Amino acid sequence: RLPQVVIIGRPNVGKSTLFNRLVGKRLALVDDQPGVTRDRRMGLAGLSGLEFEAVDTAGWEDEDDRSLPGRMLAQTQVSLKGADAALFVIDARAGLTPLDEEIGRWLRQQEVPVVLIANKSEGNAGESGILEAYSLGLGEPVPVSAEHGEGVADLYSALIPLI
Ligand code: GDP
Ligand code: MG
Repeated sequence: RLPQVVIIGRPNVGKSTLFNRLVGKRLALVDDQPGVTRDRRMGLAGLSGLEFEAVDTAGWEDEDDRSLPGRMLAQTQVSLKGADAALFVIDARAGLTPLDEEIGRWLRQQEVPVVLIANKSEGNAGESGILEAYSLGLGEPVPVSAEHGEGVADLYSALIPLI
């Protein structure tokens, strides 16, 4: 069994963009299960010598967002079951939101190792967000631009010792 690495974070931080960047064309399957696990996408990711199954979650974000924090946590909890590590993605340009902090607090109480990803870090626009991300207490944020393909090697370097 390959190590399973779930990509988590609030909507719009770039989880799916990162998933696509990591998996490329090696998309294994598209799940279409009912409930909070629906539209779970899995794909083979990795470099030579390190392969893992990446998991992206989507589909529930467009719904009425009145109870977003609750559904967010439920989704995150389901995704994390059986995972060997998590990539917790924040938007370095937007800075931390209360939802990021809530997910972060919850993640700190879990056993699963976490790599904190400060996405949208191309250029200088993400610098203050990267600094803010330290306050989550989840270690050193790894600056990444999923869209531009920057920082992916650093992401792997951070992940390798964990899985
Ligand atoms: P998700 O909701 O967390 O899955 O986020 P998406 O992957 O759908 O991305 C949300 C938005 O952020 C889209 O408009 C992406 O094009 C944009 N985005 C994703 N990654 C980056 C990045 O590295 N830099 C910038 N500037 N935008 C990004
Ligand atoms: Mg998505």
